[in-house]
Amino acid sequence: MSRGTIARLDLAALAHNFAAVCRLASPSRVIAVIKADAYGHGLLRVARVLRDADMFAVATLDEALAIRAAGLSTPVLLLEGFHEPLELPEIAAQRFDVVVHHPAQVAALQAQRNMTFGRIWLKSDTGMHRLGLPAAAVRPAWEDLNRHPGIAAIGLMSHLACADQPAHPQNAQQIASFRQTFAGLPGPRTLANSAALLNFPETRLDWVRPGLLLYGISPLSNCPAAKPVQRIALKPVMSLHSRLIAVHNLAAGEAVGYGAAWRAARPTRLGIAAIGYGDGYSRRLPSGVPVLVNGRRAELAGHVSMDMIAIALPDDIPAEVGDEVLLWGGALPVEEVAAAAGMIPYELVCGITRRVEYQEHSQPQP
Ligand SMILES: *Cc1c(COP(=O)(O)O)cnc(C)c1O
Repeated sequence: MSRGTIARLDLAALAHNFAAVCRLASPSRVIAVIKADAYGHGLLRVARVLRDADMFAVATLDEALAIRAAGLSTPVLLLEGFHEPLELPEIAAQRFDVVVHHPAQVAALQAQRNMTFGRIWLKSDTGMHRLGLPAAAVRPAWEDLNRHPGIAAIGLMSHLACADQPAHPQNAQQIASFRQTFAGLPGPRTLANSAALLNFPETRLDWVRPGLLLYGISPLSNCPAAKPVQRIALKPVMSLHSRLIAVHNLAAGEAVGYGAAWRAARPTRLGIAAIGYGDGYSRRLPSGVPVLVNGRRAELAGHVSMDMIAIALPDDIPAEVGDEVLLWGGALPVEEVAAAAGMIPYELVCGITRRVEYQEHSQPQP
């Protein structure tokens, strides 16, 4: 029998979110970001639903090859480019789109003048200081790539560090730097992730690169119900479920779990659910984080164990062994759970481990 620890994936919600993002971004084209196993939702499961996307983006060649091996011919962009020159023959053979963010990558491409590549996306560092060529190195790199006989198209790209904070001054700086750095160069442009797509319409340009929005999660850390997100009416794709495997009573003053980290202030009914950090329910989630038991709100009590959590149950909640526990999704936004822990929803959904059973469903969406 199943332990009942299940990630349910609403594929109709995924299709709905994708269509909503495409409508919002139009006429910009959409690169569906499905790196990190599609943010924990399952790379191929998501790729099959979104196969009509203009392009997918992934972080590794293995992910790109898995998409091809599944028989999908959607164009694929490698967000970090190649990690070693040995990857180039395969990248060329598959005509993957490739980000080039470092002089060493430009040099490695120049050393392969008899290979034919897909589109190269030249990435400039406009202020995030993670990946990208400094502004002064962009034009020389562009000239080098443009002279390459096997490179037919060059796109222009950067990434914003603070797009989830609309008032942050670095946004305007980076947007201005993007314009200046690439001024006069031909080729398609891409700058916006999910947060930029919502907060800075001027960054949509030719291609947008939403990830989180596709999964029905808001990137706006301040508020899951923020206005621009409401307008596109996202639907959460993942919900994480478990079941109660024990229910018992604590007397006032008794503690639960490792380190006796949570102590009952008054007599408390405690539910034990079959999910823990071994499933990706992070140990960084503290006491007080909301969970739903039979659809009613209760709170995590004490440290998350590897296979179990304890839940302090309000007296008026019916709770018996076998009853349903919702950790996030549906009526309990993952944004809210993450915020209660000082975490980001990206971390939670990406963290689901292989022990969790995945179930797909596809209810028709109004
Ligand atoms: C992951 C990633 C994205 C998508 O970010 P979201 O916040 O999930 O929309 C876009 N661009 C790049 C370069 C990325 O690495």
